[in-house]
Amino acid sequence: MRTIAVYPGSFDPPTFGHLDIIDRSSRVFSRVIVAVAKNLRKDTMFSAAERMVMLRKLTRSYPNVEVDSFRGLLIEYVRVVEAHVVVRGLRAISDFENEFQMAHMNKKLSPEVDTVFMMTGERYSYISSHIAKEIARFGGKVDDLVPSLVRDRMFRKLGKRKSSMEPRTAGKGAKIR
Ligand code: ADP
Repeated sequence: MRTIAVYPGSFDPPTFGHLDIIDRSSRVFSRVIVAVAKNLRKDTMFSAAERMVMLRKLTRSYPNVEVDSFRGLLIEYVRVVEAHVVVRGLRAISDFENEFQMAHMNKKLSPEVDTVFMMTGERYSYISSHIAKEIARFGGKVDDLVPSLVRDRMFRKLGKRKSSMEPRTAGKGAKIR
């Protein structure tokens, strides 16, 4: 059976954690649709279109992965694209409560669709879009959290030069910012 999976999220911005889930899903399912949620929160750093462009560039090498966006109820979107499965990533217990509730609600609304959880890769368990944005805002290094193309776009958004992201180690009395 050809299984179509939808991997929904804000992806504001995409991180190595998201890419790990996409990579692993692409091996399990015949087709993976990465679905960018529009208008979930108004205070996103990137527009839905910008998030989609980044995700498309980052997933170019996967023939069975595509990037789309949706507005409104996820389960409605899943029905429209005739997907069988919703993929979500789980990091910590704190993710579980929300995810558990959402999976049950979606099952109630659409019993034929299952939610499949992928445990975060060990190396990615501490990564979130939120953390990446916080660190970038305070001028920290985000190279371990997001791919370089995302990093560069974050810097541009924040109006910071790339060089200002490096910790200041030169000179006496230099401070790590
Ligand atoms: P949302 O706002 O829908 O939670 P996110 O972009 O934050 O959107 O996350 C999308 C999905 O990716 C969620 O299922 C989330 O748990 C998962 N995810 C985010 N970061 C990681 C990570 N580091 N490892 C595994 N899964 C992750």
